[in-house]
Amino acid sequence: MEDSILVVNSGSSSVKLALFDKHHQKKASALAEKLNKTDATAQITGSPEPIALPENANHQQALQVLIETFTQKELLQGQPLAIGHRVVHGGETFREAALIDIDTIAAIKKVSGLAPLHNPVNLVGIEAMQVLFPSVPQVAVFDTAYHQSLPERAYRYALPKHCYEDWGVRRYGFHGTSHYFMVQEAARLLSKPAEKTSIISAHLGNGCSITAIQDGKSIDTSMGLTPLEGLVMGTRSGDVDPGLFDYLAGQGVSASDVHAMLNNESGLLGLSGHTNDMRTLCELAEKGDKPARLAIDVFCFRLARYIGAMTASLRHLDAVVFTGGIGENSAEVRRETIKHLSLLGLMMDPELNQQHGKESGNRVSHADSRFPILTIPTNEELVIAQEASRLARL
Ligand code: AMP
Repeated sequence: MEDSILVVNSGSSSVKLALFDKHHQKKASALAEKLNKTDATAQITGSPEPIALPENANHQQALQVLIETFTQKELLQGQPLAIGHRVVHGGETFREAALIDIDTIAAIKKVSGLAPLHNPVNLVGIEAMQVLFPSVPQVAVFDTAYHQSLPERAYRYALPKHCYEDWGVRRYGFHGTSHYFMVQEAARLLSKPAEKTSIISAHLGNGCSITAIQDGKSIDTSMGLTPLEGLVMGTRSGDVDPGLFDYLAGQGVSASDVHAMLNNESGLLGLSGHTNDMRTLCELAEKGDKPARLAIDVFCFRLARYIGAMTASLRHLDAVVFTGGIGENSAEVRRETIKHLSLLGLMMDPELNQQHGKESGNRVSHADSRFPILTIPTNEELVIAQEASRLARL
């Protein structure tokens, strides 16, 4: 019986596949990694046996093998009802998810210059699934789309206006699917309609961004033209003085080396000199490692400054929400961040925070806190499956 919705997330060297039933319950997921390399691997989540891939397997081959494995294991019977794809950049063209046809593909290609590392591989995933399932409706769900509601004062940079008009230089924002899910979940937890719920949503994983959501809509966000702006991240610097480029050029550092430094060698990794893994950094800091402690301090202070900044965008606030691997799991990061925000009347409950809000309906704030603070596990795959169902009219 055909009752599955497939969610495809193809990255530069990996592809993740999730399988939902038509009621949006997750049935299985799988991951193929190190694609286009001799040691490409694949695995169904929770299964110890690796899945054999051809040597140097590419995205198309990996997807084919994963689909065959789902079929052999009877997780997928027949064709899926719909396929949802994560697509990183939708530019100004896509304000919401879109059914994939020739025009959609052309429009995704057109904005690929804004996300050269992501959109082309997202398209490889789309084309691979079109070959495998030519008659199944496919839907593109964009990381940027949710932020298309930003007012112009929030998305324009103070640059000559032709930069925007000729080259599309503006703030686009990312992690939109996760921030959208946060406001839906926060609304449910607070028993309010989502379109009347206003939150500050902090998505803290290896990539980090924060969004001000007013009455269900994104109205300000920390990531910009690219996912490099804003908060300190695992290996990305977040905000730096734009004068840095000129200064480093004077030191003989090339533009491509500055790009590599800001994207791959900075953030928690750069500050600590050890790792981009927050859990390891917390363990090292606990043992007295000073660079690890500094990395956590800079991360939390920058985050607190951004939470403060986001209040300038909002008319009211129902909750501050933490999500992502760090936001959901690191009581230390939440505590150290909120400590900076006593002027806003934000207060943690140490015990609820330590339990990550698991016993308290996701709340980690003290009863006297001016605004509730919540931890909510993100679920971008679920949103993509829901959007695929909606647009495929299931
Ligand atoms: P993500 O990209 O959402 O998977 O998040 C990855 C980040 O979450 C890494 O920095 C992990 O170290 C961090 N993380 C996951 N679990 C924990 C934990 N229990 N404590 C602190 N950080 C964690």
